[in-house]
Amino acid sequence: MTDENRTRRASYLPFALPGIGEEEIAEVVDTMRSGWLTTGPKTALFEQEFAAYFGVEQAVAVNSCTAAMHLALDAIGLQPGDEVITTPYTFAASSEVICYFGAKPVFVDIRPEDFNIDPARIEGAIGERTRAILPVHVGGLSADLDPIYTIAKKHGLAVVEDAAHSIPTRYKGRLIGSAPIPPETGQPYDVRWFGCFSFYATKALTTGEGGMITTNDAELADHCRVMRLHGISKDAWKRYTAEGSWYYEIAAPGYKYNMTDIAAAMGRVQLRRAAQMRDRRAEIARRYTEAFSALPELQPPSSGDEGHHAWHLYMLRLNLDRLTIDRAAFIEQMKTANIGTSVHFIPFHLHPYYRDTYHYQPEDFPVAYREYQREVSLPIFSRMTDQDINDVIGVVSDIVERHQH
Ligand SMILES: *Cc1c(COP(=O)(O)O)cnc(C)c1O
Repeated sequence: MTDENRTRRASYLPFALPGIGEEEIAEVVDTMRSGWLTTGPKTALFEQEFAAYFGVEQAVAVNSCTAAMHLALDAIGLQPGDEVITTPYTFAASSEVICYFGAKPVFVDIRPEDFNIDPARIEGAIGERTRAILPVHVGGLSADLDPIYTIAKKHGLAVVEDAAHSIPTRYKGRLIGSAPIPPETGQPYDVRWFGCFSFYATKALTTGEGGMITTNDAELADHCRVMRLHGISKDAWKRYTAEGSWYYEIAAPGYKYNMTDIAAAMGRVQLRRAAQMRDRRAEIARRYTEAFSALPELQPPSSGDEGHHAWHLYMLRLNLDRLTIDRAAFIEQMKTANIGTSVHFIPFHLHPYYRDTYHYQPEDFPVAYREYQREVSLPIFSRMTDQDINDVIGVVSDIVERHQH
């Protein structure tokens, strides 16, 4: 076998492209003509529509998921020296927001089947200063929430769900970002909870930069609303309208985390198209998995229950003992064949800051370490054509065929 790629694409297929269409562009132009550029009526409408879509009482628009998680932890009154349990297998944001408070992120290893935090290991990590659990629905497949909420209730902890990949994700039929409900009682868990969403450019619903907090607790939501705009008393954005007033009061030193109307304009259109874009990604995933299931060198990701996976990511795993190349060489070959890929994620404990601050060894979180070394994420975005899908399948199959043990 030659080492030459036989299936190089003529043009580069990027790992991700936003699904922005003419309707989003028209809405943004309309906003620019309206005179309201920053937080205004469209942000308020986007919040209402988001709350209705997810079936929640409160939705607070912010300028990132990082801001959303920061405000959620602020709302529960996280203090220096407190601890928050989270996963090592996620993006920088999920842990840095804990560090903002001088609090400690306590990592709990993942389960191999879906890269999500292993609920069976959580109780062993709870200490006197534990205040919250911050699970991530990795790639768009839900973490196992019933045991997580049961533990949170038992120990009086809040739950801040990193739902950056969850538009839309379901858990036992219920949309992530809505009230967590135990199957036995049908009554929501008596736990303070938040859903935190990201509208970053690569995410399933994008506003360029943006985020949303969902909760059913009006008091916690009000705290987030005040703190997202300088800690100024409610409806600060209305001070430049006819009904507004020059007078305002600073209740606390807040943040500059408000969403712009330009972003909200994009978000409102994207939300209307969210289900359709998700269905296209599910179709791409189905075609990938059908092709890759036939190759023992590859492990396709779990699909979860029908209609439950957001398919934000397609997290393929290489069975390295059956291949003569490692993950880095695989990615290099994909790149040579003109196809973009990514890796989700480099676990926290391997990064210099966490490794050196907490003296971690790679084997401290063995599952995260092992799965990271063989993960490669393939392009999966709604604008991909059938030809794009076939190209990815062809190139991956070709690389595997040329490097079988
Ligand atoms: C993208 C991402 C975030 C951060 O979202 P921003 O809107 O960019 O702040 C947080 N968590 C996860 C898992 C992400 O992938």
